[in-house]
Amino acid sequence: MLDLKVYQSPIKPTWCPGCGDYGILNAVKNALAQLEIRPHEVMFVSGIGCGSKLPDYMNANGFTTIHGRSLPIAMGAKLANPDLQVICVTGDGDGYGIGGNHFLSIMRRNPDLVHVVEDNMVYGLTKGQYSPTSPHGFVTSTSPDGSIEVAFNPVATAINGGATFVARGFSGDPKHLATLIAAAVRHRGYALVDVLQACVVYNKINTYDFYRQRVYKLEEAGHDPTDRDGAWRRAQEWGERIPIGVLYQVAGQPTYEAQVNALAAGPVAKRPLAPLTAAQANALRREFV
Ligand code: SF4
Ligand code: MG
Repeated sequence: MLDLKVYQSPIKPTWCPGCGDYGILNAVKNALAQLEIRPHEVMFVSGIGCGSKLPDYMNANGFTTIHGRSLPIAMGAKLANPDLQVICVTGDGDGYGIGGNHFLSIMRRNPDLVHVVEDNMVYGLTKGQYSPTSPHGFVTSTSPDGSIEVAFNPVATAINGGATFVARGFSGDPKHLATLIAAAVRHRGYALVDVLQACVVYNKINTYDFYRQRVYKLEEAGHDPTDRDGAWRRAQEWGERIPIGVLYQVAGQPTYEAQVNALAAGPVAKRPLAPLTAAQANALRREFV
């Protein structure tokens, strides 16, 4: 196991005291340390939001992109250099709302990357508007009479949409969450880890206590993650009992990058840079101009 200090960033987190993102950051570091993945071997890609600041707080490669667009950029990084461990970090608004279509597309494509979603059911950075995962009736500045939308179910959508690894963790149990992130990293293919994240400022419903009273661990409940129908049924559970753990995993599905013919000669990032000859430049000009 690596020393956690190798991931220590000089930048101090600006999250509110008590924010669930601290637990998620700890879990990410612990997972990477357990797997002995060194900072130069990993790349974090994030969008915009409180949780999307996480790459700043890791000593590793990082790319903070625009709102909702981190998944395609993470996939581009993976295609350019499949040797990199790519971890995409988004919030629920960023990942499921603004970037919702990318979420639907990436699960069908199955690139080998991890997607950690800090799901606090609210847009925290912009001061608490309701998000796709906000519960029905959730009162915010943009839903003063309570949200009239049905909450989006990310894990059920991922199981239905072709994701090959679907897990749910809780920011108040970073040790358990680290095991899920480590399993997601070991998985070959798109791995979603939706994290029930406490936002102590803008979500007074789904608090640490709310979750502590309700979450139970799938691995202690005899759940078989290879059983897709069983995973689907567990994904419908919400209310008095909320499952956390690996809901679904199917091994051996081909990754997107393994099927791209242009990558058969090896990662683009590892090929020598060579200037075009005049003949090659002219051939390109003829093809495209
Ligand atoms: Fe965390 Fe909420 Fe504060 Fe954002 S607003 S840093 S999600 S507690
Ligand atoms: Mg959010």
